[in-house]
Amino acid sequence: MKYTHVYFDLDNTLYDHEKAFHKTILHCAESMLHQKSSSLSVHKWFSVFKYHCDQFWENYEKGEWSRQEYQVNRFCKTNEFFDLSCSKKEALAFQEEYQSKVASFAKLYNGSASLLTLLKEKGIELGIITNGGKETQTAKIEALQLFQWIPRENIFISEAIGMEKPGTSIFHYVHDQSGRYLYIGDTFEHDIQPALEAGFDAIYFNSRNEKVELPNEVPEIDTYDELMQLLVV
Ligand SMILES: [Mg+2]
Repeated sequence: MKYTHVYFDLDNTLYDHEKAFHKTILHCAESMLHQKSSSLSVHKWFSVFKYHCDQFWENYEKGEWSRQEYQVNRFCKTNEFFDLSCSKKEALAFQEEYQSKVASFAKLYNGSASLLTLLKEKGIELGIITNGGKETQTAKIEALQLFQWIPRENIFISEAIGMEKPGTSIFHYVHDQSGRYLYIGDTFEHDIQPALEAGFDAIYFNSRNEKVELPNEVPEIDTYDELMQLLVV
């Protein structure tokens, strides 16, 4: 294999974040509804919550709302929709509970463990470049037992190093000119584009079935079996 270093994004690349998010929010919402003595179905609450997550994401991405405002609004607007009480304090406590539990609901994608084992056996340096909070991301990495393949010094979490994707500086920081680097991620703007700009090769893992125009040199895969074919066979 031509690569000396293979780096991965974390959320929706090594594990199914959508699934973990769904399960964790259901879990947190269940206890919230129980505390309010509400008989509302947790699945109904979740579908409105998810609608607000998607609808409000743009306000956060455009910089109109802080991350905290985004988190408070998606929670409170959902409770308002169902005539349930809500306060900022409660919304933040819900968010905190989510963050402390999401790691325990995270599961590696099928086939990723065997690929990581194989790459490690071949002496390839494995790593992670991820956006997010140091504590939350480290808890997920621990829960997914990724430390068995990926050494701590190769794990770069945006909050911990003060650089974040889609900026290219985080990729330049990781990329040592003497090696040949590959990055695997699930979004074009956050993962593929900045990685290419910093001198990595890139593979697009289409884990959420999106329609994306990719440059010719970027292969697209949607399972770890395909990634295995591409890298090892
Ligand atoms: Mg991702």
